[in-house]
Amino acid sequence: MQQAIQNEEQEYNPIISEHLVGEIQGTQPGPTVIAVAGIHGNEPTGVRAVVEVLELLKPIKEHIHGRFIGLKGNIPALEKNVRFIDEDMNRLWITSVLDKIRRTPFDEFQSRERKQIKELLRILDPLVYTDEEVIYIDLHTFSATGSMFSIIPHEERHVELLSQLKIPLVFGIQHTLIGTSMDYAEDAGHIGFAFETGSHGTEEAELNAVAGMMMLLVSCGLIPARHVHHFADYHTYLMNKVEGFPHKVEFVYKHVIEEGDEFIMNPNFRNFDNVEKGDWLATDRHGKIEAQADGYILMPLYQVQGTDGFFIVRDCE
Ligand SMILES: [Zn+2]
Repeated sequence: MQQAIQNEEQEYNPIISEHLVGEIQGTQPGPTVIAVAGIHGNEPTGVRAVVEVLELLKPIKEHIHGRFIGLKGNIPALEKNVRFIDEDMNRLWITSVLDKIRRTPFDEFQSRERKQIKELLRILDPLVYTDEEVIYIDLHTFSATGSMFSIIPHEERHVELLSQLKIPLVFGIQHTLIGTSMDYAEDAGHIGFAFETGSHGTEEAELNAVAGMMMLLVSCGLIPARHVHHFADYHTYLMNKVEGFPHKVEFVYKHVIEEGDEFIMNPNFRNFDNVEKGDWLATDRHGKIEAQADGYILMPLYQVQGTDGFFIVRDCE
């Protein structure tokens, strides 16, 4: 009989779940970085990026401090390539809802997304409810075109780490998106952020996600830069990609789409395009929708599913 290998110091429990894309346990202590991709099923690019990061980390495993875990979110929606099936899975991570999900038996869920969350919580809860340092990345893509960005709380610890990624930081949006999974990580006292890496299904969004994650893994101390092949290239790549875009912006306005609105965004808006108050941005069955403030447009909606029509953000210090 084979004897189980036990390392008393590290108490390492491998994850067994169809949500696991892969995990790499380093040989030295350090942070746990969790990347969740495909919480929206029409955004499989993040899953591919996570696979790539795992491949990049494998050969340098002995230099890793901590652990990298890649998870996929909404498996039934990923299989159908739709944002969600019954409910938006990234609007349900509210403490009271999560508690209800934890207490509901697996065969009693009406909503497939809630069942997916229960499966994920089985992995996440033991990782997140510890004293250890956890960094949680929620990977997304968008239906518009234009620059990648990350949505983070306007809080020193987050800004200090995530400004090292070079990509534009967007503050305040998370208050208008109730129940995202980054809230769950933050409520548990960790760093959590959403990384919007590019347009749905594009190679660029995948490259951005890989480069951004590699920058993060170096910035948080999971892997020393000298052990990452071509690390300088990731840095240069990201600097080029975000050139000309603002570094830090804050939320000003969000257009909410309601059932039956027949919202249609005017064509050709890209993330961080300048808009002025009164600019005609979209139309619905009530008429013209105009910009309510000066600023940059963010995430103009060019897909059927979703209730956030567009955001307006402005420069901030
Ligand atoms: Zn998304």
